[in-house]
Amino acid sequence: MARIAFIGLGNMGGGMAANLAKAGHDVRAFDLSADALAAAKAAGCLPVDSAVAAMDGVEAVVTMLPAGTHVERVYADAVFAAAPPSAILIDCSTIDVATARRVAEAAQAKGMMAVDAPVSGGIAAAKAGTLTFMVGGPQEAFERAEPFLSAMGQAVIHAGGPGAGQAAKICNNMLLGATMIATCEAFVLAEKLGLEAQTFYDIASVSSGQSWSMTKYCPVPGVGPETPADHDYQGGFAAALMLKDLKLAMQAAQEADATTPMGERAAELYAAFVGEDQPPVDFSGIIRTLR
Ligand code: NAD
Repeated sequence: MARIAFIGLGNMGGGMAANLAKAGHDVRAFDLSADALAAAKAAGCLPVDSAVAAMDGVEAVVTMLPAGTHVERVYADAVFAAAPPSAILIDCSTIDVATARRVAEAAQAKGMMAVDAPVSGGIAAAKAGTLTFMVGGPQEAFERAEPFLSAMGQAVIHAGGPGAGQAAKICNNMLLGATMIATCEAFVLAEKLGLEAQTFYDIASVSSGQSWSMTKYCPVPGVGPETPADHDYQGGFAAALMLKDLKLAMQAAQEADATTPMGERAAELYAAFVGEDQPPVDFSGIIRTLR
């Protein structure tokens, strides 16, 4: 079993670090929040008082931080300053592709191996150890990271070179944002045309309009499997995080000169929704604004 530094013990990182500890690893955990550190201790991790202290003698460093600026800072101040050069560096945060590539280049310049490994699956999947990891980096780095990621998830997929994990993540979530809005629109129109939501679901879920947003995450309460719609749009994947991912996708599209009109519209609609709906709400709650 390995000694691992884990930085960022929030909604996602807390459950992930706990699963590494449960798998028998010696997890040196750090977060700026005292509550998060206490929860990590209760879950079997060893809390330490700085990111630098967490790096002592580790074989792997896992980061799960809010955004690219946090990742770049923690890498500059702690990881590159104090981690053993042989450690595999695994960033699981969702960040912009350009920052992920810059971090990978900086690691390579220091002779260190690094991967970007963002996740699909929310807080419940982080706790249950059923996340999907999409991994960007050289084959050898992927092979080094894979056993650690497997202890926190059920699927670990090599997406390509540095930044490819982040690229896969934001393209997937851009598609999800657009299909969720389209699914909500279809339910609202069906309702206004006099169709029962259940009847429309029964037809569309076995027809060509079918999607994950329809059959696994239906935005209408009481229809399909249990979803946040059945709990007044609480829990699930926060609309604010969908907006974050759509903004990252739009930034990447601009940098790559890609045309993404549906992604742009989805970003505009989620920006308006998050602005007006201050208490955290699931992203399928956008159906309210279409009614
Ligand atoms: P969170 O805000 O709950 O957790 C982030 C943690 O990082 C916080 O506890 C914060 O104190 C800590 N932190 C910030 N700067 C730090 C620093 N310099 N040193 C140490 N700790 C620091 O966020 P989250 O929901 O856990 O999300 C983490 C990442 O996972 C984000 O990039 C998010 O986009 C991504 N993600 C989240 C979900 C979700 O459903 N929550 C799903 C998929 C991906």
